[in-house]
Order: sequence, then C-alpha cells, then structure tokens
Amino acid sequence: MPSLCSEPPVSSRARHLVLVLGDQLDARSAAFDDFDSRHDQVLMAEVASESTHVWSSKPRTALFLSAMRHFAAGLRGQGIPVRYLQLGESQALGIRSLGEALRHVQLETGAGMLVCVQPGDWRVRQELMTTCKELGLALELREDRHFLCSASDFEAFTRGRTRLVMEFFYRAMRRKHRYLMEGDEPAGGRWNFDTDNRKSFGKKGPGALPRPVQFEPDDITREVFAQVEEHFEGHPGSLESFAWPVTREQVLQALEDFIEHRLPEFGTYEDAMWTDEPWLYHSRLSAALNLKLLNPREVLEAAEHAWHRGHAPLAAVEGFVRQILGWREYVRGLYWQAMPALLQANALEANEPLPAFFWTGRTEMACLRQALGQTLEHGYAHHIQRLMVIGLYAQLLGVSPVQVHEWFLAVYVDAVEWVEAPNVLGMSQFADGGRLATKPYVASGKYIDSMSNYCSQCPYNPRRATGADACPFTTLYWDFLLRHEPRFADNPRMALQLANARRLPAEERRVIRLQAAEHRKTVRAEPPAQLPLSRQEPLFGSQD
Ligand code: FAD
Ligand code: SF4
Repeated sequence: MPSLCSEPPVSSRARHLVLVLGDQLDARSAAFDDFDSRHDQVLMAEVASESTHVWSSKPRTALFLSAMRHFAAGLRGQGIPVRYLQLGESQALGIRSLGEALRHVQLETGAGMLVCVQPGDWRVRQELMTTCKELGLALELREDRHFLCSASDFEAFTRGRTRLVMEFFYRAMRRKHRYLMEGDEPAGGRWNFDTDNRKSFGKKGPGALPRPVQFEPDDITREVFAQVEEHFEGHPGSLESFAWPVTREQVLQALEDFIEHRLPEFGTYEDAMWTDEPWLYHSRLSAALNLKLLNPREVLEAAEHAWHRGHAPLAAVEGFVRQILGWREYVRGLYWQAMPALLQANALEANEPLPAFFWTGRTEMACLRQALGQTLEHGYAHHIQRLMVIGLYAQLLGVSPVQVHEWFLAVYVDAVEWVEAPNVLGMSQFADGGRLATKPYVASGKYIDSMSNYCSQCPYNPRRATGADACPFTTLYWDFLLRHEPRFADNPRMALQLANARRLPAEERRVIRLQAAEHRKTVRAEPPAQLPLSRQEPLFGSQD
C-alpha cells in the first residue's frame, strides 16, 4: 500500500532546514517565524532510536508518529514544503538516529542552516549540537514559546533561594499571568483549595462516570499501527484500544469534552482511584500538551472561563490550574537546571532491579495490577496511580532510579523527558535528595486503601506489615523508614512517620526487615520480561 505521507525526496537546495521534532507540533512556534516557502524546507524524521533508546511502548510510539504525520499533512496543505522521512524510508537508508537523518537531508538539500525550537530533551539538544558541528551547519535554536515561564525567568525565580517550593513559584505565576486573580489577591481569597479537593469515592464508588470522547483511528493512524507492529513487534503495550486525539481539531474537541463533562469534579476526585476506571475526572490532555498540539494558555483560559460562567467551582478550577501553570512549568524549569546530572541521581542509594512484572502487569497486588495493566493497555495512568502506587512501590522496594526513569519514559503516551524525569527522579523516587520534594512521598498500603477500592480485591491486607497476608506496601513502608531513619532524622516533615517507626518493638522491626528482604528476593527471582531485538542488537544497520 502506498504510504499516505510519502513524497519524492526534495532535491532543490534549501536556505534553512526547519527541523520539527515529534513533540513540537505547533504551526505557530518560533520555528516558523520567518519561514519562506520559496527557500526553506521543513524536516521531520521518524527514526528508530527514538523508540529504542528506552523500550518505548506501542501506544507511545504510535501516538507520536500519527500526530507527526497528521501535522506534516497539515503543513503541506498550507503549501509548506516538508521533507518527511518515514520509518520505512529511514530503515531503507540505514538511518537510525536524528543526527543521521539530519546528515542525510543536509546532503540532499545543501542547506546552510538548521533552525529548530529548543528541544524538550537535553539528549536531543546535545545530538543536534554535535551533528551540526560535525556537518559545519549553523544551528539556530529558538525560544520555545509554548511555555509560560522561560528558562531565564525560572533562573531568576530560583536565584538566591536555598529551598525551592512549588507553591511560591505557582503564586508568582498566577500574579504574573493573571489567572484566577481579583486585583492583587487570589480569586476566592485563597491560593490553594487542596482542603476542599482530593477526596475518595467512599464505599459507594464513583457511580456513573462521564466517558471521555474517543477518537477512532483513521487511515493514517492505522498505517502507523501496522508499521509500529512491524518495526517494534516485541515492545510493550497494545494498540487495541488506542483512541487518543492526534490532530489539532481532535485535541480541541478533547479539551472541550473535559471542560464540559469532567472539570467540575476534577478537584474533588483528583487523588481518587477505582478498579477498572482509568480516566475518572482527569483531563487526559498531557500528551496533547506535550506534543504542543495544545497550548497551555488555551487550556488555562478555558478552565477559568468555566468558573466565570458558573459551570465549574473555583476549587476544581484552582486545582487544575495549579497542575498546568504550577507543576508543569515548575518541573520543566527544574529539569533544565538539573540536567544532565539528574539522570544519575541516586540519593537513597537504591539498587534493586526493576521488577519484571512492570512490563506485564502480572502481579497479585491488585493496586499494581490495575495501574500497570491500564498503563500497558492505554499508555496512561493518572497522577496518583503514578506517584502513590507505581512510583511508591518502586521507591519502597528500592529500585535503581535510572531503571524506574527508563520505564516511565517508555510506557506513557505523554512521556517526554523534561516532564517525566523530574517527576520520577525528584517527586516520586527522591533520587535528587529533595530538590523537588521536601520529603519522600512514602505511605503504607493504608493510604491506597483509603483512596481506592483496590484492597478489597487483593489477597493482602493493607493493615498488616507481617505475616502471610501482609500487604507488601505496608511491610516495605516500615522497612523504608527503618532503613532510612538516620538519613531523615533532621527532616521535620518526616518527624511523625519516624516517631511511629521508632515506637515499633524490636522484635517487630526484625520481622519486618526479614519479610521485606524475603519480598525483594521473590521479586528479583522472577524471570525478566523478554527484551525486544532492538534493545539487544541494532535494528537497522550499525548502532551509533
Ligand atoms: P490531569 O490530572 O488532568 O492534570 C492536568 C494537567 O496538568 C496534565 O495534563 C499535565 O499537563 C499537568 N500536570 C499535572 N501534574 C503534573 C506534574 N506533576 N508535572 C507536570 N505536569 C503536571 N506528566 C507528563 O506529562 N509526562 C510524564 O511523562 C509524566 N510522568 C510522571 C511520572 C510520575 C512518577 C509522576 C508522579 C507524574 C508524572 N507526570 C507526567 C505528571 C502527571 O502524572 C501527568 O501529567 C498526568 O497524570 C497526565 O494525565 P492528565 O492529562 O489526565 O492529567
Ligand atoms: Fe495494594 Fe496492599 Fe491494597 Fe493489595 S492490600 S491492593 S497490595 S495496597
């Protein structure tokens, strides 16, 4: 079948090559500021290494490729010349990496300069800079206007502060960008409505939930599925229930669907979890935002407008605005300050291997089975599932942070390093020693029990730390506190948890430590998930 995006190679010489990366799908970005269709040419490339440097799941790869192909088709529709290298062509040409794609197209076009918006990943930026240097190609990296806080603004915010706290950053962003403000004061007289938010569904459960709008894969997306299955056959995850928005029109529809049907309850149930309900009242907009198909300003404005017109309560809207204007911008700022050292951070000296069942979801622990299962099925889990189920278990078990990072980067459709790495290595694993979070997010199985119905379907008992039916989270929680007691002795935010641990009788401590060690041994003994060919040997041609 002829490819829907295929095109003859453009042989004419180009003045500028304008590189559009898979997470830069914004036709109003700085890359197009002085674009001249008579002299310039867009370059977009699908290269295997972007799906193999971590074991990228099928939904994640498919979403990126489908959104890229639709975006390229839209540019062409506007008369913009696009040199688009599809996976099949890259393979035939022996191109595996972005650098190789660039080298190839530079030879084709003789372009004198590469223009690109600042890449979101440190790794990609390094690759571009190195390749351009080798090719003697001038490189112009332009500001990413998608974000509301520039790198230099973030630098100015952190300058002179010994301790960073997201809350202060968020307030400064609210003041500067005037979201939810009444004069100089926060709307409703409070910056933070957390006390009204973050409830569980209680015993009755969530009742009838609004079903998010689904997007039936079109011909382009189906062609991508076939190629993903062909090139990344052994990769984790499934494409069966793929229904993500892949075009600008679709993401706008997804935004409207969220604002109309889920935003009003977003805050109340932000932290709640329920069996077989992956979406609840969450927006599902992270991938569209991270691919830059959606601008955070339009999301913030739509949410604020919903409050003004009386459609959603202030607590829900504030809770949502905090995530986008606060957390999202904050982690991006921290990422660029902390790289590249962040990826090696291991403040808690955690060295266990990643459990094999992270790649299959096959475990008796009901909470993990649910969170991992939906991750592999949809490429999605909501924040509390990522932080207080999957991330929590990895941290309590003591998994090597870089392995946790690689897993998170591989499996989620919204996973891009600038947002994934600070969340995983900072917020969830405390590997950065407390740069992002003031204390480790640790809790026992009782927290999961209070926020979900998972425990009612689990062979373990969240209240028990020892014995045959002890919940592994609870055993590992006490073990974590006992192991790290000296490290956190001076942290006032850990005082209560440590005081409780110190009250445990000596014999109970001993049994907890033994049971935790036994659990680790059992998890370690599981046969590893089968790595695909692409992780063991080069998929196409020689590996760089
Ligand atoms: P909602 O719950 O509807 O939240 C609205 C939006 O707020 C999100 O779309 C997102 O853009 C933003 N947001 C919320 N929390 C955060 C946060 N902590 N950091 C940055 N933005 C936030 N988010 C990603 O976009 N990519 C990742 O790879 C990613 N990895 C994560 C790993 C861990 C261990 C944790 C704890 C969080 C991670 N997050 C990541 C943040 C957050 O979990 C997701 O953005 C969110 O679950 C996406 O679902 P949603 O769009 O339905 O979000
Ligand atoms: Fe998870 Fe423990 Fe509850 Fe089972 S009992 S669902 S392992 S928290």
